[in-house]
Amino acid sequence: MAYTVSKVQALEILDSRGRPTLEVSVELDNGPTGVAGVPSGASTGTREAVELRDGDPKRFKGAGVTKAVNNVNTEINGLLSGKSWKSLEELDRAVIELDGTETKSRLGANATVGASMAAARAMAAADGKPLYAWLASDQALLRLPVPNFNVVNGGAHAQNPLEFQEFMLAPLGAPSFSEALRAGAEIYQALKGLLHSRGHATGLGDEGGFAPALGTPEEVLDLLVEAITAAGYTPGRDGVAIALDPASSEMREQDGAYRYSPGVKLTTDQMIDRYEELVGRYPIWSIEDGLAENDWDGWVKLTARLGERVQLVGDDLFVTNPAIIREGIERKAANSALIKLNQIGTVSETLEAISVCRAAGYTQFISHRSGETPDTFIADLAVASGAGQIKTGAPARGERVAKYNRLVVIEAETGHLPYGMPAQA
Ligand code: PGA
Ligand code: ZN
Repeated sequence: MAYTVSKVQALEILDSRGRPTLEVSVELDNGPTGVAGVPSGASTGTREAVELRDGDPKRFKGAGVTKAVNNVNTEINGLLSGKSWKSLEELDRAVIELDGTETKSRLGANATVGASMAAARAMAAADGKPLYAWLASDQALLRLPVPNFNVVNGGAHAQNPLEFQEFMLAPLGAPSFSEALRAGAEIYQALKGLLHSRGHATGLGDEGGFAPALGTPEEVLDLLVEAITAAGYTPGRDGVAIALDPASSEMREQDGAYRYSPGVKLTTDQMIDRYEELVGRYPIWSIEDGLAENDWDGWVKLTARLGERVQLVGDDLFVTNPAIIREGIERKAANSALIKLNQIGTVSETLEAISVCRAAGYTQFISHRSGETPDTFIADLAVASGAGQIKTGAPARGERVAKYNRLVVIEAETGHLPYGMPAQA
């Protein structure tokens, strides 16, 4: 069937950090409408699609998005409205052509991704299907993802001394999504108690995790293992494992050294040795951006050394870009890609990035951004793709739990979907 668009509109709203972002709505003839809230990152990869900001110092210190809003209301609305589209792919392709740049810098990837997400929702509504079912290329792929709860925040997401950005709990061994959610919430509370009893602050970072004034990753990892046990769970892949996102592009200095922790700088080779040590000592199952986006040779070495033992996820490295992921596959860098809609700027290209990974045996890790809205699109995307894993922050704060709660609804509504990572090819 074809979808006739009658109106595309955007508004400037606030994200979870109180910074402007877009809400975009797409209305089809006869009524079905889709609405989307656009996410925004802080530790962004340099090759990401461009988020268009006004740069007007008189509004939001230059962070306003009225230009992107205007691009939706004029050019994108003009292109899409009054026409009939055979598929989301055809619609996305037309928007990409209208933009005309490699990185969506003219219209803004925040404008294009909002239009694309809202269009997908409207089309799903027109077909009378839930978004996850509508997005899936094959209904047999549908599965509920392992939630990776970011419970300690550092790096660009907090003002504490921690250089590593994210410390996550992954209930790989949970029997179901809702039991995984319960484990995450119980351990989060146990961790809060431990931090409090040791005199650490329990204030939160941008993704809802605690942001204590701890210095080394090891101190945090010890606490996580203690909290997992204290809450009555087993640390490890059969119970609750740990995922790291050092976001190390942010830790790398001009001379190529990494700031591992306050006062400690490591070379690429020393970083790889340290990860090997950490993986031997702690129940770590996944490391994202363990090395920087400009350290490709290091990535190849890291993958050769640890790729059989842990998931190595490229975020800043791949920026959800099918062409860059293909380059990584060719060079044997990483074995997994983080998937963020706004890094590439349309839903269709995001789905293509997922297919490129799947064809090469790379896992796909669906992700929110540090700046979020209550939009739950990625929950449906995680189920539709069959990726088997999602990270969308702590099991706390409205914009984070909205996604986890959407997965609870999908679990209940479908009743029979498998939980967890799919078997690898
Ligand atoms: P960002 O961080 O959304 O601030 O880029 C998330 C991540 O690095 O995975
Ligand atoms: Zn990351």
